[in-house]
Amino acid sequence: MDTTKGDSTVTTRRIDIIDIHVHVRTGDHAKVWERDRYVPANQEGFSDHPDAMADMYRELNGMAVIFDIDDETRTGLKASNEEIAQWVARHPDVYIGFGSVDPWKGKAAIIEVERCAALGLKGIKFHPAVQDFAPNDPRFFPLWETCARLGLAVLFHSGTTMAGAGQPGGAGIRLEYGRPIPYIDDIAARFPELRIIMAHPAWPWHEEQLAILRHKPNVFMDLSGWAPKYIPESVIRYANSLVQDKVFFGSDFPMLTPHRWLREFAELPIKDSVRPKILRDNAARFLGLTHLVEHALPASE
Ligand SMILES: [Zn+2]
Repeated sequence: MDTTKGDSTVTTRRIDIIDIHVHVRTGDHAKVWERDRYVPANQEGFSDHPDAMADMYRELNGMAVIFDIDDETRTGLKASNEEIAQWVARHPDVYIGFGSVDPWKGKAAIIEVERCAALGLKGIKFHPAVQDFAPNDPRFFPLWETCARLGLAVLFHSGTTMAGAGQPGGAGIRLEYGRPIPYIDDIAARFPELRIIMAHPAWPWHEEQLAILRHKPNVFMDLSGWAPKYIPESVIRYANSLVQDKVFFGSDFPMLTPHRWLREFAELPIKDSVRPKILRDNAARFLGLTHLVEHALPASE
């Protein structure tokens, strides 16, 4: 692929959507997967190779936040934040990068967060259930202090997870750590400068999630990982009204394609004035891409 393509289109391309939740495989995860085995990972046949994904988002007039998950102390496999930065550099018109650190690495995790900021990444993804940690444990406070100080957003998987599903003991994964209260609420209270995204409708605790959204200005959520027709009704109702400025579109690709998500979202009873907020404007403001909002065509109401 022509690596200059991104640069030439970065300022001119029309952006209608920002997908804030897209997985890529890096480091040991990419090696395990092998490049030539990037296959259609979903029923609709879209490859999750980052080059193919970039073209997919260009066709959708979209941008995407990409990340991996480092859970090396549990699995022995290390993710690579450099590779995330490299994919962003290769497709700067499409990708925004979030890093990942394994919170159990202690001081090394702090240094890695600082390196993520130096690499130009905009946030850090955490998966408390898969990484087996309680975000409100004071041992991890230095992580939240560092992210807040560096202006890095933190994205927490929330709600149940398919990771480990069906395996003996759910592969040892405790769903409890996906619960918004107390884990996310505690650190949102303690670190008001920390900008937090709760990923996914946090089923079966989505009501707790909505309570935090209403209560804490520094907490947001994405609607990824759920086909819109299955998103709990209360989440849709709040997204359409009280928390309409705090909800982001996300697919969780390759688990769910943005195409299917957008198709089903179009069927939901969301106000015309709210749709562009969820699909683009809220994330653009959150990520500091305000020019996308300012230059946007007015929403038809
Ligand atoms: Zn995800």
